[in-house]
Amino acid sequence: MDIFEAHQKLKAKEISPSELTRQCLDKALKSKNNSFISIVEDFAHQCALESEKRIQKNGPQTYLDGIPFSLKDLFITKGIRTTAGSMILANYIPPYDGYVSEKLKKAGGTLIGKTNCDEFGMGSTNENSYFGPVSNPLNRKFVPGGSSGGSAVSVLEGSSFYSMGTDTGGSIRLPANFCGLISLRPSYGRISRYGQIAHSSSLDQCAPLGKSVTDMACLLEALTEYDVRDATNVPLGTMSIAQDVHQTPPEHLKGKKIGVYAPFIDACKPLVKSSLEKALKHCEEAGAKIVTIDLRHLKYAISTYYIISTSEASSNLARFDGIHYGLRESDGQGLEQTYQKSRSRGFGNEVKRRILLGTYSLSAGYYDAYYKKACQMRRLIFDDFQSAFKSCDVIFSPVCASTAFPVDMSQKSPTEMYINDFYTVPIALAGLPGLALPYGKGENDLPTGFQLIGKPFGEKELLKIGRALELTY
Ligand code: GLN
Repeated sequence: MDIFEAHQKLKAKEISPSELTRQCLDKALKSKNNSFISIVEDFAHQCALESEKRIQKNGPQTYLDGIPFSLKDLFITKGIRTTAGSMILANYIPPYDGYVSEKLKKAGGTLIGKTNCDEFGMGSTNENSYFGPVSNPLNRKFVPGGSSGGSAVSVLEGSSFYSMGTDTGGSIRLPANFCGLISLRPSYGRISRYGQIAHSSSLDQCAPLGKSVTDMACLLEALTEYDVRDATNVPLGTMSIAQDVHQTPPEHLKGKKIGVYAPFIDACKPLVKSSLEKALKHCEEAGAKIVTIDLRHLKYAISTYYIISTSEASSNLARFDGIHYGLRESDGQGLEQTYQKSRSRGFGNEVKRRILLGTYSLSAGYYDAYYKKACQMRRLIFDDFQSAFKSCDVIFSPVCASTAFPVDMSQKSPTEMYINDFYTVPIALAGLPGLALPYGKGENDLPTGFQLIGKPFGEKELLKIGRALELTY
């Protein structure tokens, strides 16, 4: 059951918010997947009761009213522990709500808990969390994807209807792809980042994950509103798209131009490749036209991303110093010792690696050679997309060259892991929206899928194309 169906059932009083909440909490509490860092039982019951009163009186006030959901533990929640998957924040209880928590609360949602994630959103497997790895319930020998792995698994195991994750360079699309779910990375600047713990500020975007394209539309509708507290938030007004997206007929695909850069597909593992080819054939049979595009600068996307994201992370994470927030390790030997000890103990290896890389790229002697160059390359990548969009409505791309990675692979070679982000980081660098959709099975009988990339702020058309496609499955 997706959000839209649950909403119809709540409206018809066939089910109550408390029943839905009990079912989800039950699954969350019994879960063996380590998908949650904190489960907020009492709070969830209280939210459900409030929804129940509202619904009894006037019916659900929004699509999200009375629907249980989870939040990646990077979203600040008032009075509820928020850890970023890190030891340094393991006991941090924020005194305020960030934008996403505030909006979803106001929309009447029932928060079940905070989901596990790679520390500060750094990783692709959800094995970099201080709270331990998340298991993929489809096959425990493989990871669920990261960094929003807990979010994907919470939806897969049925402990929440949808989950809000974040996507800096693929963290919502990869777990959706590995778990056979749907997710949307919105355009950069669409949704306020206020109260979203920063990894890389020019790339971070909150991103929903759920079971249907209509779910994505419901969430985009609920979350699009200008927020002055984030200077990069674009004033777009409110949007009402859920009905429109839901009612899109399959014929919407007729004559739509889908751009494909063939080398992308050729580089995938054999079964992923054949699944992608089938998906493209499927699009054509549904009336879309496949056009060839050129994205030649994207081969530099990994190096560009890892210079920019680590540079920004090194600067963003400077605030975790043992004084302002979280863990403080001090032996009374002065400020510098406190910084050193708190950060050495509080951060995990991947976070430390990135702080070192980023500090190096930003240092006086190397700034021009690395950071500045990466920013110039980012522009060329954006320009590639701009010219591609002159001949197509959306772009079709793999999400990953393989299906879910085997457990522990990330611990062997960090650079090999970075390379696996090849398909997800380009649109993050260009600030474009991306909709990850499941399609068929690949290696090890695990789910595979693809992403449709939209024009800047072109989420409505992207979702309509996605919905039309979903209906032809
Ligand atoms: N795998 C990428 C990284 O490790 C993406 C992370 C993300 O989107 N938060 O940086």
